[in-house]
Amino acid sequence: MSQAGHRARLSRMARVRDRMASLGVEAMLLSLGADLPWLSGYEAMPLERLTMLVLPADQEAVLVVPRLEAPRVVEDPELFTLRPWSETEDPVAIVAGLVGSRTSLAVSDRAWATFLLGLQDLLPGRSWHRSSLVTGPLRAVKDDLEIEALRAAAQAVDRVAAQLQAGQIPLVGRTEAEVSADLGERLRAEGHQRVDFAIVGSGPNSASPHHEPGTRQIGPGEVVVCDFGGTLALEEGEPGYCSDITRTVVTGQPSSRFAELYGVLQEAQERAVAGATAGRSCAEVDALARDLIAAAGYGEAFIHRTGHGIGLEGHEEPYLVAGNATLLVTGHAFSVEPGIYLAGEHGARIEDIVVAGDPDPLPLNRASHGLAVVEA
Ligand code: ZN
Ligand code: ZN
Ligand code: ZN
Repeated sequence: MSQAGHRARLSRMARVRDRMASLGVEAMLLSLGADLPWLSGYEAMPLERLTMLVLPADQEAVLVVPRLEAPRVVEDPELFTLRPWSETEDPVAIVAGLVGSRTSLAVSDRAWATFLLGLQDLLPGRSWHRSSLVTGPLRAVKDDLEIEALRAAAQAVDRVAAQLQAGQIPLVGRTEAEVSADLGERLRAEGHQRVDFAIVGSGPNSASPHHEPGTRQIGPGEVVVCDFGGTLALEEGEPGYCSDITRTVVTGQPSSRFAELYGVLQEAQERAVAGATAGRSCAEVDALARDLIAAAGYGEAFIHRTGHGIGLEGHEEPYLVAGNATLLVTGHAFSVEPGIYLAGEHGARIEDIVVAGDPDPLPLNRASHGLAVVEA
């Protein structure tokens, strides 16, 4: 475990305890999801054997972990102690015992219902909250180490995007699924430990934002939307941070109709990135892109929010969407990814990860935004 990671986690733990105090939360119960690795460096396995960090407001935290998984835990006595449980013990009862008489409890949003229901049986009459009530606004603002990790992931994914734009990834004659697998291999080759997704939508499929890459063979003169990402850890033992990029390319000269659409999209995306400054609301940044797209006549074709926060999870707070009055602060990290989709015809999306700044935002992805014509 790195010293920088240790220091970052101590600081996060202090901020969590402050927020627990101000919200009146008496214990956090963290299992699956990103809150646990963010705070402890340890990620619970999604298994029927319970792993749960019990973090009381007034005492040291205890990590309840299956005995056979305890060797994987990098202990950090300043953060938590270990309570390994053996196969014949009941981990839910152990957690309930550690909770004791505390009444206001916050459980991981992603904890399995079976464990929460078991805890509720053993701990009647308590008030239950989502852990994101405490951690959401804290995790949304990245510390320096997290920005460094997001930048490393963005630079790695940028290198793959550059290969795509330079025509180094064959498209014509291959299926979407083959190109998707190729993108995944390249993500790993550039340092990602895990590939989370590699959307490839060609021809009319480019108008479907979350298209599942399939057996369609890519032809000449087609639009191809590629949206890919994974996780990359700065060093072994540290949790991985997410990358997420979208670039749209054409296999041959684009139609004037598509070139016009793409020009509008590029301007809208760059406008929203430049506008991602501290003090602006999430809704305002969404509107920066949306208003321009609507003014060009494509309002109905931009069918999703402008962006989502990113960190240990691919999608997390804050969300750039109409109605979200959350004000950006320095360190908020999120995607800016407007798209224009004409069903049955073609679509396009451009996506970068950006860190809100004061006064200037920090775009982490630097791959070209221009419409790359490959295999012309
Ligand atoms: Zn998406
Ligand atoms: Zn994406
Ligand atoms: Zn995204």
